[in-house]
Amino acid sequence: MTRKVLKFGGTSVANIERIEHVADVVAHRARNEGGGFAVVVSAMAGETNKLVGWTKEAAGDGLVGAEYDDEYDVVVSSGEQVTSGLLALALRKRGLRARSWLGWQLALRTDEAHGKARIKGFEGEGFAEAVDGGEIAVIAGFQGVDDNGRIATLGRGGSDTSAVAAAAALGASECAIYTDVDGVYTTDPRIVPKAQRMEKISYEEMLELASLGAKVLQTRCVELGMNNNVPIRVLSSFADPGDTHAGTLVCNEDEIVEKQVVSGIAYSRDEAKFTLLGLDDHPGVAAEIFARLADAGVNVDMIVQADARREGRQNMVFTAPDRDAELARRTLEDARSEIGFEELEVNRDVAKVSVVGVGMRSHTGVAKAMFQALSAKGINIAVIATSEIKISVLIDAAYTELAVRALHTAYGLDAE
Ligand code: ADP
Ligand code: ASP
Ligand code: MG
Repeated sequence: MTRKVLKFGGTSVANIERIEHVADVVAHRARNEGGGFAVVVSAMAGETNKLVGWTKEAAGDGLVGAEYDDEYDVVVSSGEQVTSGLLALALRKRGLRARSWLGWQLALRTDEAHGKARIKGFEGEGFAEAVDGGEIAVIAGFQGVDDNGRIATLGRGGSDTSAVAAAAALGASECAIYTDVDGVYTTDPRIVPKAQRMEKISYEEMLELASLGAKVLQTRCVELGMNNNVPIRVLSSFADPGDTHAGTLVCNEDEIVEKQVVSGIAYSRDEAKFTLLGLDDHPGVAAEIFARLADAGVNVDMIVQADARREGRQNMVFTAPDRDAELARRTLEDARSEIGFEELEVNRDVAKVSVVGVGMRSHTGVAKAMFQALSAKGINIAVIATSEIKISVLIDAAYTELAVRALHTAYGLDAE
């Protein structure tokens, strides 16, 4: 029995009309392809943001961290409950058998990191049988349940990860991610109209692009797909039912014939830059800082340390997601005397722009081209970070789009 998982994001289920269209797409596939289908849905576009806003208002300024996040999850997971029920109803209207499945009903187990929980396992009793029996399983994405029976959400964009987890659990032949663009592009097509759709992209490159801000797929979904060998296909949900457009396949590198030096450009505005001035300079200081941040659940990214030109003093610069900026600031301020620093500056008006490509492993000059393109536009670089297949720079947020466009052109990625 072939099993397939289809996922529809927020704009694809933004209102009843869109949900009716999704039901047509699913019905067409179910009737023409045969096999078992599981469909994962996001909340209606804008709904999760609205729910997040409410939790902030209700909690007030005093509450950040775990004490806030467990109830945050109860609230923000509710958007997916609504769309899963609505799609099941729309499928039934078309004469198909369908039912909704919430995270706890699937027993999609997560850890206790509320707000950004990781999937531990998928117990799914009765779920695979229902799918094989021809009933379309409509799964509320983004949500699972922790070992205490509490609802946990998988981080923003987490329905992608729910879909790949379901595909892995079902041994599905492919996981189709339907969204509002018809594939993965060389950069965000909304800010660079000359971006080009890729027919295929390797898990590795997609993982970098996603983790560096290309929100078309959530990072963990790509990670899960790579670890479980689930091919992921990104498609448009706006096409007619029965449309045969192939979208973009995320697959193993060896399945890709034509390899580019730079395959894509990503950007992220969810960045904050922290500068610790006049830090004590002795072994254990960095360990102290980053252990405290890790315990608070702050994901630190770029780190630069330099002498302060004063005996026994150093400066440290690092970045973390802007949404964790307040939590990180408080964590450091509360430990000011234990860590031993003079000043902490937080700059939330920064963005990270990155170029990604497996070809960087064997080609030189990629960094040079990047720095020249940025300097030609007068864009100043605050921090640089590199890995085997990417180079990232931190810049003033106001120059994000200019930088992305300049780099897209510089690496020859613009469409004719
Ligand atoms: P969904 O609601 O379906 O999950 P998202 O908004 O999370 O959709 O992701 C789709 C969006 O990702 C697109 O509208 C596009 O603006 C953005 N995006 C960013 N980088 C890329 C890229 N390299 N290729 C395609 N889309 C991208
Ligand atoms: N609704 C959630 C969000 O907006 C999850 C998702 O759409 O993937 O982040
Ligand atoms: Mg998304």
